[in-house]
Amino acid sequence: MDIHQQSLTIRNVSKTYANGVVALSNISLEIPRGMYGLLGPNGAGKSTLMRTLATLQEPDEGSIRLGGIDVLCQKEEVRQTLGYLPQEFGVYPNAKAEDLLDYFAVLKGITNRASRREVVEALLKQTNLWDKRRQKLGGFSGGMKQRFGVAVALLGNPKLMIVDEPTAGLDPAERVRFLNLLSELGENSVVILSTHIVEDVSELCTHMAIINKGQILQEAEPIRAVEGLQGLIWRRIVEKSVLPALEREQKIISTKLLSGRTVVHIYSEENPGNGFELVAPDLEDVYFTTMAGYFQKQVMQQEGEAQP
Ligand code: ADP
Repeated sequence: MDIHQQSLTIRNVSKTYANGVVALSNISLEIPRGMYGLLGPNGAGKSTLMRTLATLQEPDEGSIRLGGIDVLCQKEEVRQTLGYLPQEFGVYPNAKAEDLLDYFAVLKGITNRASRREVVEALLKQTNLWDKRRQKLGGFSGGMKQRFGVAVALLGNPKLMIVDEPTAGLDPAERVRFLNLLSELGENSVVILSTHIVEDVSELCTHMAIINKGQILQEAEPIRAVEGLQGLIWRRIVEKSVLPALEREQKIISTKLLSGRTVVHIYSEENPGNGFELVAPDLEDVYFTTMAGYFQKQVMQQEGEAQP
């Protein structure tokens, strides 16, 4: 299928809640097939956007298209082709994995018993839960619940898969297993992964957007965004006491503790001297530089130069 037929186009979407919080402010994004990371801190507006895409709530303004489908008007069509894994996946603790997945398959419209059995078996195997199929969900670990959520979300081969903050409660081994599972999904559909964890995006996503306070600060391919910071990020290990002075002199983008010492990353177009050394930037530097407002200006300047 033509890649454009499957992409998701979000235009000028805004949402203000009844209490006056502006959760989304004129959001426009072009989301191609594959894994797409929506990265931002808590309260940025990610869940609001995810729920809107999943037809669970209405924006005040804007339009959303998934291929030929108008997402805001043709909700039923979207739901038939949508897989949604919410932040909190409530499970029925006394239900067995196989039974509950079978039940959700009926709800999804797979009424033929034989094909349902095939689908359920395939999904339990794909999510590595086949051995656990007769166990009650109440005894599942966080990672197993998440993988069960993926199995439910995958019913009916969705063209759009929405995954909201999936790795937050997982231990490191579960997280790796879960991310590996997700990475297999991006081949045939649009998969949007909303997260505040930079590594989730850097390990998985071919495209991403950084969102804060309801606004898109940057849209980029992670690899290119990292390349764009070459020669601009400098590091120094300091005593905590010198931080206030440094903050006055430099554009600090992050401070991190390392064995009791403080590692400072700054953004600087010139060699700052003063013991700073140039580092190879990573996606975390992109994120913090963007959040601090430095990278955005740089990208906008480049775009401005390219225009006649
Ligand atoms: P994120 O998923 O990035 O943490 P959310 O979309 O959940 O962000 O929230 C964005 C902003 O909207 C936050 O300030 C949050 O408190 C507010 N918000 C979210 N849901 C509601 C709601 N139902 N009513 C009022 N404010 C809300």
